Amino acid sequence: MPKPEENCPKCMGTGHIEKVSEGPHPPVFERCSCVVHKDVIANVERGMPGLSKFSKIEKSGFIEKLNENLWITAGNNFLRHLRHVMIRQPPSYFFKVVSDAELVTAWLSSISLKGGEIHDADAYMVSTRFMTIPDLVVPPDLVILRMGVKVARNSAAPEVLAEAINTRFHEGKPTWVWDEPSHPLNSGHLFWSGDVARTLTHFERIQKKSSSKVSQSNTSTTATISSVSGSGSRKSLR
Ligand SMILES: [Zn+2]
Repeated sequence: MPKPEENCPKCMGTGHIEKVSEGPHPPVFERCSCVVHKDVIANVERGMPGLSKFSKIEKSGFIEKLNENLWITAGNNFLRHLRHVMIRQPPSYFFKVVSDAELVTAWLSSISLKGGEIHDADAYMVSTRFMTIPDLVVPPDLVILRMGVKVARNSAAPEVLAEAINTRFHEGKPTWVWDEPSHPLNSGHLFWSGDVARTLTHFERIQKKSSSKVSQSNTSTTATISSVSGSGSRKSLR
């Protein structure tokens, strides 16, 4: 539970404000926005440590894509969009940025649980706690798969990625696959395979055009995603 702002002009540091209501019933209190805001920041940091620190942008078309499967090729600027979108979600919204390296680690864990032998340079990262791919990717409302983190080669990498995506698909939950223009997900990528390619054909493709704009390429008109209305229906905190 976050602490209220001591000098908050709305709640005077109590963390709650009286709801304006008509009629003679006992007063109803709700949590002050200063507390809710801290909750939101904590939630953003749970989804990806450090994300709330990225700089502000005015709007992002991604805010309307929360329920879509997206394949996004963009540089680090994408994280500013992600911050923009997630800071506008309620604290109960569960999103998680999962790296390709974490996927392989989870897969290796499940092998070691079955008593198998591990051949991977990243095997030292395999934790003893129970964490399989479904454990990792099923719970969140939205998973953002961050590609390009894993460097050590593992021949199972593409299967692991396809399994993660298909598991989400099976659960009926959206996934954003994010690769970088400098290291695109294609035949030269550690996680690429025909299966992965087939899985991704169902994803809306969003490619970065320049350093400041991200564009959509699955339509004949290339609209910049930042020009798509990003007001959203939820009350924004910033
Ligand atoms: Zn307050």
